[in-house]
Order: sequence, then C-alpha cells, then structure tokens
Amino acid sequence: VSWDAISNALSSVDTAIRVIKAIKAADGAIEKAELKFKLAEMMEALADAKEALSESRDARQALFDEIARLKDALAKHGMIVRQLDAYYDATEEGEAKGDPYCTRCWEIEHRLVHLIRGDRTDAFHHCAVCRQKYSRRASPFSIERRGLE
Ligand SMILES: [Zn+2]
Repeated sequence: VSWDAISNALSSVDTAIRVIKAIKAADGAIEKAELKFKLAEMMEALADAKEALSESRDARQALFDEIARLKDALAKHGMIVRQLDAYYDATEEGEAKGDPYCTRCWEIEHRLVHLIRGDRTDAFHHCAVCRQKYSRRASPFSIERRGLE
C-alpha cells in the first residue's frame, strides 16, 4: 500500500509541474479563464499528493513498528525454550520456567502471549489472542527451576 501511495504522490507532483510548465510556456498569451482552470488543476494535483504522502507516512510508521516488534522477538529468541506443547522463559541452563506461552503465536506471529488457565472443569489452557487450546498436561503453569539444586 505504501509504495502505491508514494507512486501516486509522485505522479500528482508530476501533474502539478506539468501544469506550471504549461502556464510558463503560454507566456502572456494565456487567458484568465484558462489560467484559473490550470490553477484548479494544479491545486487538485497537489491535494492528491498531500493525501498520498500522508498515507505513505502512516504506512511507514506501521513498518517501523513491525520491525521493532520483530527485533524484539529476535532478541528474545535465545531466552525462550519449548517444552511439551508450549514455550517458556528459559533458565540460564536452558530449562523451562514460569508460565506457558502460546506456541502458535510465537512460531507464526513471533509474539509472546501467555496462555490463560481454563477453569477446573476445562481440560485445556487457552490463548486469548488466537483462541488455540492446549492440553493442561502439555502446557503446565508455574514450572519451577529444577536439576542443578
Ligand atoms: Zn496464540
């Protein structure tokens, strides 16, 4: 979308420049009515360019936000470990600790989303973002550090 907006802005600015050149080339011979018409054409082109540039500025911001989020996910990559069906924060020894993250959200969206406990009668934990269900036994909560102690 942003590249379209930039192309649109360029083409609108081109139009405005073409109109100005036409006015200059006409010298003194241009009539007032035609001059008004050309100015209106130029105004319209510049208004289009402004709108397209504003659209591309928003798209650029969205890209920067996405890049920042992915950089953050990349930095966390070594600090996350998979156990059974979920991901967890890793201890220094690389073992799972704490509460489970949604596998789908991490592997596909690169987002860390904690699972939500189902109620007592529910055999599943849930992801509030993607609605994926995980078996309680394969995504335990409050995993303690173990092994080296
Ligand atoms: Zn999820």
